[in-house]
Amino acid sequence: MEWQEELQRSICDVERLKDLMSLSRRQEAHLKQIIKRHPMRITRYYASLIDWTNPSDPLMRMVVPDTGEMNLSGSYVTSGESLSTKMRGLQHKYRETALILATSRCPQYCRHCFRKRLVGLPTEEVLQRFADAARYIEQHREINNVLISGGDPLMLSTAILRNFLNKLLGIPHLAYVRIGTRSPVSFPDRILKDGSLVELLRKHTSMWKRLYVVTQYNHPAEITEPSVAAVNKLRDAGTAIINQTVLLRGVNDDPDTLADLLHKLTKIGVCPYYVFQCRSVKRVKRRFQIPLAEGYRIVEKTKSMLDGPSKRFRYVMSHRNGKIEIIGIMGNEIYFKYHQARDPKNIGRFFKRKLVPDAGWLDDLKQTPVSADGVVS
Ligand code: SF4
Repeated sequence: MEWQEELQRSICDVERLKDLMSLSRRQEAHLKQIIKRHPMRITRYYASLIDWTNPSDPLMRMVVPDTGEMNLSGSYVTSGESLSTKMRGLQHKYRETALILATSRCPQYCRHCFRKRLVGLPTEEVLQRFADAARYIEQHREINNVLISGGDPLMLSTAILRNFLNKLLGIPHLAYVRIGTRSPVSFPDRILKDGSLVELLRKHTSMWKRLYVVTQYNHPAEITEPSVAAVNKLRDAGTAIINQTVLLRGVNDDPDTLADLLHKLTKIGVCPYYVFQCRSVKRVKRRFQIPLAEGYRIVEKTKSMLDGPSKRFRYVMSHRNGKIEIIGIMGNEIYFKYHQARDPKNIGRFFKRKLVPDAGWLDDLKQTPVSADGVVS
């Protein structure tokens, strides 16, 4: 069966879900309401990893809608996307990096997605004219890398991806291209069943220009034989594979689970790159976000159980002002550093805020004044 056919057989409505789990009438009605707003799609592969008799199954939590999504606190736009959007489907927030939103489709829809405002939905935000985006990148010589994201770009046909990569990797000032995809985790068949995709990636990795695959494993149970086989195919094609994990309530919010995940990823050659603070996204925040203080303690305890490459990752918040690393807590203060910044002057800037135990985002913390030792807020 082709990968497209298999994808057609995903679980997308409440009737199919009821074959797997029991739902009260009330739950059923709520779920239908939620799905109308934010679609559900669970691949049959991922469904097979879930213990459907366990209401707390961490994988189920990531893909099955819940009444918690009816809580509207937060915002759909948390990273200042409109400030960075240069044209439909192209954002330029950091000097050297262009972000292409190539599609709004994914093999399955994560309930914690920070792009919930667009995934699975008709949107004006995704790329329409790739030639215009490529021209913008060509004209901005300060851009040395492109991140192709979405949605999941591997939902595009291999022919469209070929067109993207041919054009982008031909731009002399681009050093590398990243493809952000959760397909190795949620739908390994996309990689295992399409030899032409693997050949395409192989063709575009050379001694001097490398393709990176940025994936998102959030729980050790996602590291399965098919998933590792997909990762190995990508690696055999010459790509480098790195992982971003989102810290999620009820999924990986304990050091043993997180350490197990990061250790196993390192073992299969997928380098842990970031652990992201879950954003304050509407319909996500209340269900998945962990307070910064708690997150910091989980991450530090996790690091104490790891070594070498498995503990090189950074714990960061992708804020509208930049990528902010959560450095430490001392007394009643929490310390941060700009790892990346919209305003290049801020890169590396160190600052602190008064700790608020349940604050989950920088904006929940008040500024503290400049101190005598030069530490600024
Ligand atoms: S695969 Fe990525 S873009 Fe798609 S729903 Fe999940 S987190 Fe969002």
